[in-house]
Amino acid sequence: MLTVDRVTVTYDRTPAVRDASLEIADGEVLALLGPSGSGKSTLLRAIAGLEPATGAVRWDGDDLTGVPVHRRGFGLVFQDGQLFPHRDVAGNIAFGPRMQGMPPADRERRVAELLDLVGLTGYERRPVTELSGGEAQRVALARALAPRPRLLLLDEPLSGLDAELRESLALDLVGVLRRAKTTTLLVTHDQEEAFTLADRLAVLDEGSVRQSGDVVDVWRAPADERVARFLGVTTVLPGEIIDDRVRCAFGSADVPWCPAVAASSTGAASSTGAASSTGAAGSTGAAVTVGLRPHALRVAADGVPGEVVARARRRDHTRVTVDVSATVPEVSTVEAVATMSEAVRPGDEVRLALDPDGVAIVG
Ligand code: ADP
Repeated sequence: MLTVDRVTVTYDRTPAVRDASLEIADGEVLALLGPSGSGKSTLLRAIAGLEPATGAVRWDGDDLTGVPVHRRGFGLVFQDGQLFPHRDVAGNIAFGPRMQGMPPADRERRVAELLDLVGLTGYERRPVTELSGGEAQRVALARALAPRPRLLLLDEPLSGLDAELRESLALDLVGVLRRAKTTTLLVTHDQEEAFTLADRLAVLDEGSVRQSGDVVDVWRAPADERVARFLGVTTVLPGEIIDDRVRCAFGSADVPWCPAVAASSTGAASSTGAASSTGAAGSTGAAVTVGLRPHALRVAADGVPGEVVARARRRDHTRVTVDVSATVPEVSTVEAVATMSEAVRPGDEVRLALDPDGVAIVG
């Protein structure tokens, strides 16, 4: 188990990472997610031993301060792979096992095993200069896994690839990590990647860990509005919990996972009364802040009326900006989605229905 205990990294008196603490259990994949410049790479480098830091990095309770990078038993993969250009694929993958003193026949077997794991069987003698970007990253992953590291550190391993390849390689990587059962820290600024690959999530912002937990829990219940917006929430508005459901101006949704639901069903919730326009007359519930991702609001036959002010085609849907100020004055415009077949245009009157899948409870 990896324990990061109040780690701080300072450059020129400015802390790039402040008091960061997190844990990764054996076999677990933790994604360190945050905007560019939030300190993710710096924290990864501190864990690897590449960056001087205060606080402690421990493995199974043993403090690693003073343990050099190559003795930590960690495997590293960076954005651009950084393969040895003068060695072929097998030479790259066998490097770590050779340093560990593994006999040649065993090394050869290990190389074949790893090439199979990353889907490049038969690539042993390829010069690494002739690999595509995706192949090079697979080889970098195989090389990092070859010495059987106790922790795999991946720093934006897919961000140098084009979108389509990134998506397919992310899916492959899930399989590789599950099969290799290696404890992993993945640094990424891409929420999709974090959700595809990780069991748990730690959100880093301005050098501090704002929230960590199970991926789905963090997704549904971001700690504050800043985290929520970073995790794709585009509309924030008041709501209340009534009878196991959250109600807001756009309708109501089942949120059985929300802690306030459990509280209100046991009668412990306070009646703070942030009544919404669609709230049941006279009833009040626990006030909550509701976060809506664009796909929480869908263009439909029924729902809250508004006027389309902008439209953008996405790969599998149409994203629309809708002015709802006449019916929901607390938010002037909202982001919503329509299907590709719905011909919505700026100026059109539409109705927006609430889809529980895109609803988050903030704070
Ligand atoms: P992220 O990986 O989240 O994009 P980084 O860890 O690379 O963020 O950077 C965090 C902050 O630390 C940034 O403000 C960056 O400019 C600064 N920083 C990173 N590396 C160095 C360095 N070697 N010297 C000085 N400042 C640095």
